[in-house]
Amino acid sequence: MKAWRFYSFGDMRMDEIPVPPLRRGHVLAQILCVQPSVTEAQLAFGIPTLAYERIKNRLELEAPVQLFGHEFCAKILETGEGVTRFSVGDRVAARAKLPCGDCPLCGSGREHLCRKGPIIGFQLPGCFSEFAVLPEIALVKVDDRLSDSEAACLQSLSDSVAAVETADIRIGNSIAIFGQGSMGLECMQIVRTSGAGLIVTVDVREEACRLSRELGADYAIDASKEDPVEAIRALTDGNGVDVVFECAGGSPKQGLAGTKTVMQAADAVRSGGKIIGVSWFGAPLEVDIDLLRERSLRYLFPDISTIEHLEHTVRLAASGRVRLKPAITHILQGIESVPQAFEITANKGRYKAINPAQVML
Ligand SMILES: [Zn+2]
Repeated sequence: MKAWRFYSFGDMRMDEIPVPPLRRGHVLAQILCVQPSVTEAQLAFGIPTLAYERIKNRLELEAPVQLFGHEFCAKILETGEGVTRFSVGDRVAARAKLPCGDCPLCGSGREHLCRKGPIIGFQLPGCFSEFAVLPEIALVKVDDRLSDSEAACLQSLSDSVAAVETADIRIGNSIAIFGQGSMGLECMQIVRTSGAGLIVTVDVREEACRLSRELGADYAIDASKEDPVEAIRALTDGNGVDVVFECAGGSPKQGLAGTKTVMQAADAVRSGGKIIGVSWFGAPLEVDIDLLRERSLRYLFPDISTIEHLEHTVRLAASGRVRLKPAITHILQGIESVPQAFEITANKGRYKAINPAQVML
């Protein structure tokens, strides 16, 4: 089969390799649509972010290596021994993080809390290839109402569901979301179906603000034209919102907001309110803890997403409560266009992309 393999950072080549053998508890699947996550796209070019050291070690020791590709939609061609939940022809998406199977958590029915297991695309081969052998425990069935392209977004949507769950929103809570990229737009739509009251979003791109309003934000503030903190305070009688999702931070080289949205989030939330830190920064960050302490702010990070979260994404997207299609800005055809998808996804600002660029196989 054709598969993309990494020889080093910034050096990916399409190789002909054997189709992996089908194993017990696994399915053989044909990849229909795959997209690099933003983290994967940055790592592909050697930009430091989450898991950078681990990927660097693998490249140094094992190259060429099949990396990345955990956000996909695939069709099952064959089921291995012991597979009970899926049949040939089913379309599936996956939860990337697998339980290890032998730690105390896995041994006591709490596999969803396990942090020791392998991750599809990181320790296990991902789906920048024509076929993949995937473990049944990681998969969910894709509803017929969803296209292959929408289904490839479900893995990232499940991380947004986990982020919203972490916020523990009460009915009527006011919410602000900094950043209306794919995760920001997803969080906005999920909070809207999860009891939120006033929803204010912030971005610096006119197009993202327009899309945010179209998908349900009450107000989308263009931070290139007005101060988002003042605007949010004005909309909440000077108090600030109950919950802020910070989805904008990260390297300005990739078109992200740097670190300033962290302090803006703290200034836009009411005292005693919550900030959900969704962004990755790729470097240590200085934060005035006393300021958070004085105002009793809760700075929380999303839990890892579970298979239940992924199942919920299928309901959310298939019922139309979360619309994925409007954020899918770049769809490329054919496995040859994988490097172009990495280039676009690593530089979304330059290409005016919102969702990662997708590849239809
Ligand atoms: Zn475990």
